[in-house]
Amino acid sequence: MKSNAEDMTLKEVQYLIKRIEKGTLDESRDKEESQPKKENGQRLVLKLIEEFGELAENIRKNVRFDGKNIKGTIEEEVFDVFYYVIAIANDYGIDLEKIFYIKD
Ligand SMILES: [Mg+2]
Repeated sequence: MKSNAEDMTLKEVQYLIKRIEKGTLDESRDKEESQPKKENGQRLVLKLIEEFGELAENIRKNVRFDGKNIKGTIEEEVFDVFYYVIAIANDYGIDLEKIFYIKD
């Protein structure tokens, strides 16, 4: 795993978000499911919709990241939407790099 965020591949981004969602870097604890699969998928979709709402608000207000505070900016919410799209892909075991080429 690369440490420089600028060099991350989509596969690495998916892996990192998977680790964040699992709440641990310890892969041996992955089998400890915290909630049923369907409920987790619903939670992720609801979070995605919530983040889209926040993005819409920040776009309406045109609040941009000034390099200091990212809270309440378009940049923050674009990332949050991206995060939950990736988390949903992970929840369904989707390899987005593979899909990228299939779709292309
Ligand atoms: Mg947000």
